[in-house]
Amino acid sequence: MKKYYKRIFKRNDDQNLLLFSFKEHKEKNTKELGISGSASPHMRWHPFRQEWVTYSAGREKRTSFPSKKYCPFCPSGKLNYTTEIPFKDFEVAVLPNRWPSFLTHNNKITKLDGLDIKPSGGRCEVVVYSPNHDDTLADMPIEQIKLLVHTWIDRYKELSIRDDIEYVMPFENRGKLCGVTLHHPHGQIYSYPFIPPVIQKELKAFKEKNYLLSFMDSLEKKYFVYQDEHMIAAVPPFARYAYEIWIIPKVRVAGPWEFDDDQLLSFSICLQKIIKCYDRLLKKKCPYIMGMHAAPTLTNKSFHFHVEFYPPLRSGDKPKILAGSESMAGVFIMDVLPEETAIILREQIK
Ligand SMILES: [Zn+2]
Repeated sequence: MKKYYKRIFKRNDDQNLLLFSFKEHKEKNTKELGISGSASPHMRWHPFRQEWVTYSAGREKRTSFPSKKYCPFCPSGKLNYTTEIPFKDFEVAVLPNRWPSFLTHNNKITKLDGLDIKPSGGRCEVVVYSPNHDDTLADMPIEQIKLLVHTWIDRYKELSIRDDIEYVMPFENRGKLCGVTLHHPHGQIYSYPFIPPVIQKELKAFKEKNYLLSFMDSLEKKYFVYQDEHMIAAVPPFARYAYEIWIIPKVRVAGPWEFDDDQLLSFSICLQKIIKCYDRLLKKKCPYIMGMHAAPTLTNKSFHFHVEFYPPLRSGDKPKILAGSESMAGVFIMDVLPEETAIILREQIK
């Protein structure tokens, strides 16, 4: 495995900025951003949906930068304003979200208007994929994507063993349709103080049976969009979005931390092929929500790691709105079949 470096830069607010690189990062820092106020998000229990809702007041004040001119994720060493990254250059950076929905803190709260409430413990991080503002996963060198996978693995290993964290989920929202205001290529990592409802259901399913392996044969023959020896990207036969794709390792791993060199390379290539495929389909940067579903613990023996992509589209670039049935009853209504969209998507793979 190619050696990579991790530099821990202690910021003026005592938080860590992490710099991951193949070439050791030794540069002296330039001026840092001012220290911002601390957030104390809390959660309220929704007794009907039986799930937590987290409240992080002040999020509406978060940065919406008008143009490339004020991007907070560009390296500020060459700019005439300060950004999150006070250096001339970097490869991949991880920083704490300044407006976190989850943050371990000591504010004591218990009951409010008869509801169960508690502090939203945990952590929210931002992962900046590249120093270049106009870069995209679709066109980056594969080495850069491999470094990003190493970064995710590092965060899984460090965060999922913390006592205040029950589940770690790297994800990415891409495009205006998905609410993104900053266009510099980046994703996020939410570390939740509980196991989220969707993951609880997946854990239960994988304990019953490894459904991904039992579907593998039909995924390989009928539903695949792209595959090689180690990875498959397929439209799941039960897709809820027209162009939904899952990337699935062909043998079970609990998370990317169990990848060997070949799997890591294959996963990086597959990730890029799928994003390129989406962009070709729409002939522009395709909006999507991408999330990694790994096991909650590093040593889990039944969970099968996979990545889910949900482009919020009906067909072509018409947006799919989660309307009456989806929002109110939790029942998705589809007008295209996964076996048909798999063929359409497969044609875009090169
Ligand atoms: Zn930028």
